[in-house]
Amino acid sequence: MVRRPRTPRASASGRNAVFVAATPLRSWGRSEHPYTGRVGVLATKHGKLPLIAPPLAEAVGLRVDAVAVDTDSLGTFTGEVPRQAPPLDTAIAKARLGMSAAGRTLGLASEGSIGPDPAMPFVNADQEIVVLVDDDNGIVVWESHSSWDTIAASTSATAAEDLAPFLSTADFPGHQLIVRPNSGELHPIYKGISSPDMLAAAVSECAAAAADGLARVETDMRAHACPSRRAVIAAAAERLAARVATRCPSCGAPGWGRVEVVFGVPCAWCGTEVARPRAEIDGCPACQCRRERPLVSPEAGADPGTCPCCNP
Ligand SMILES: [Zn+2]
Ligand SMILES: [Zn+2]
Repeated sequence: MVRRPRTPRASASGRNAVFVAATPLRSWGRSEHPYTGRVGVLATKHGKLPLIAPPLAEAVGLRVDAVAVDTDSLGTFTGEVPRQAPPLDTAIAKARLGMSAAGRTLGLASEGSIGPDPAMPFVNADQEIVVLVDDDNGIVVWESHSSWDTIAASTSATAAEDLAPFLSTADFPGHQLIVRPNSGELHPIYKGISSPDMLAAAVSECAAAAADGLARVETDMRAHACPSRRAVIAAAAERLAARVATRCPSCGAPGWGRVEVVFGVPCAWCGTEVARPRAEIDGCPACQCRRERPLVSPEAGADPGTCPCCNP
């Protein structure tokens, strides 16, 4: 989980990347799903197993076991360890950490980013990615889900300050908190704060340690501490399970689904292309098969009110 800076969405968001094996490593059967009865390992330190395992078990009969690995080495949202790679790459790297720890070739992981929504900068958007990495067959399948409902509150306060209004916004103690000094050294840092007594002690210690006399209090975004984020991870896992269950119409590989959105609908009056989605392209993670699905009928033009020429 990483806090996103106030920049446009990372390239990994919104679209599905495609990972094409250089040569098909196996032919995919047509009958039973290739993951039925298999075991995949989920790299997690923060209790994501109940969010991710059930949809995959239900959709294709894949058993998912947790493997505890220190995924914090790939980045923490508190910034102690900056994330080096985009969220999708980080999720894949996490999955491979778990696979190597457990000696498995099939693995899963999730990665979240939270930050101002590029379209609505005053609202925080939480995007959660869940990946499945299959190194036997050289494929990666992933899906994501975004929400504006994830709680990500923060404030700074002196030890004497009344935090009640903030605690209500932050849904404390339903959502846990992190406290650290507001300026100067990052330490001490207290995570997983779930009671008013713990909070008061942490605020007074961190305020005393801070150069400006303030403690920084913010939502603990780790999955086990942040129920509103858990719901978004669960929704992303549902989407991943549905995608894994969908087989390529050409080779039968799992993971068929949207890989690209095509923009450009001709204006009904002048024919100028308006930047609206015209079609989605579905693709296979294992072969080159692609199919376009139109989103608007060819004869339906775009509303001239949205045309850069007719309504500049
Ligand atoms: Zn026009
Ligand atoms: Zn295929």
